[in-house]
Amino acid sequence: GQCRTVCPTGALIIRNDTAKVWKDLNNKKKRVVAQIAPAVRVSIGEEFGMAPGEITIGKIAAALRKLGFDEVYDTGIAADLTVIEESKEFIERLEKGERLPLFTSCCPGWVRYAELKFPELKDNISTCRSPQQMFGAVIKEHYKKSDAEDGRETISVAIMPCTAKKYEAGREEYSNNGVKDVDVVITTQELCLMIKQAGIMFGRLEEEALDMPFGLASGAGIIFGVSGGVSEAVLRRCYSQKTSSTLKEISFVGVRGMDGIKETVVNINGKEIKMAIVSGLKNAGELIKAIQKGEKNYDFVEVMACPGGCIAGAGQPLPSSKSVTRQRAGGIYKADSSSQIKRSEENPMVIALYNGLLKGKHGLLHNHCACNSHSNEKES
Ligand code: SF4
Repeated sequence: GQCRTVCPTGALIIRNDTAKVWKDLNNKKKRVVAQIAPAVRVSIGEEFGMAPGEITIGKIAAALRKLGFDEVYDTGIAADLTVIEESKEFIERLEKGERLPLFTSCCPGWVRYAELKFPELKDNISTCRSPQQMFGAVIKEHYKKSDAEDGRETISVAIMPCTAKKYEAGREEYSNNGVKDVDVVITTQELCLMIKQAGIMFGRLEEEALDMPFGLASGAGIIFGVSGGVSEAVLRRCYSQKTSSTLKEISFVGVRGMDGIKETVVNINGKEIKMAIVSGLKNAGELIKAIQKGEKNYDFVEVMACPGGCIAGAGQPLPSSKSVTRQRAGGIYKADSSSQIKRSEENPMVIALYNGLLKGKHGLLHNHCACNSHSNEKES
């Protein structure tokens, strides 16, 4: 496939990082661990003659193992962590009536744009790290002991739909004494390139399961790949009623669909909540101006830089036309409906993390808080 040269922020030139990954894969002293973003699984097949939206997570797992990856995990589990942390933050702010609206923080294209154009929003943006960065921090913590014991170095590779994620992984706050939480980010297109270089017939691969303990995501974690997904996942978490009819109800409140700006009012446990879901930075700029002029008023605003969300990221196979984007979104929602676990807090692997590795270490999941360094975190 051809490559786009810029990311949606218009500032970041695409880099090809496949050589770095090959080098690590060929080095026995490295433990190379992959995380796969939700949006990648519904687009990569297009490069190999499959239809947009076809869910290929099992083939991706098989391909990564053939390439030499040691462990193959799902970024969706970190999206589940994001849902839990961000819902908690949202409820706290609502109760105090502080720093509202809460803006989401999982899209680095949007975060960078806000930092440059609307620095006054800094306190409104969620302190949650993006799923990519939560995953990276958790992985490095998880393998710390094994690294010391077997003398191998864990290299964390993220497979992402966009180039803005490369920039995010390089941000200063995501390194700890020179050790990066995410060492290399490759886009869907770069992974296609590696698969082709290795001569792997992607379409013919037998599906394989992801590894445990970080290979299990809930449906809520997977829908992060589309615009509206974060909001829907947070609503699933915040509604006290946990029935399947509530799930259906939430999917109809106006969070889904390809519109650049979606608005909805929901009732969470007796309280009226105003939400906006924006994709595309031009729409985000307009919405923020309307908020600042007092014409609009929200409690929660989800922003994704790419129109339609990550499924249309600049690192995805081309073309990302409207109809292709719609089909990929269909794949994401299908993955959610066929998932046995629909809510982030019901993901047993997430529960295990909170009872284990994350105990006293919630700082691994947040930005700009005093407890940000990897040691001495206070429970937030
Ligand atoms: Fe990257 Fe676009 Fe997703 Fe933002 S919306 S994280 S820029 S793919």
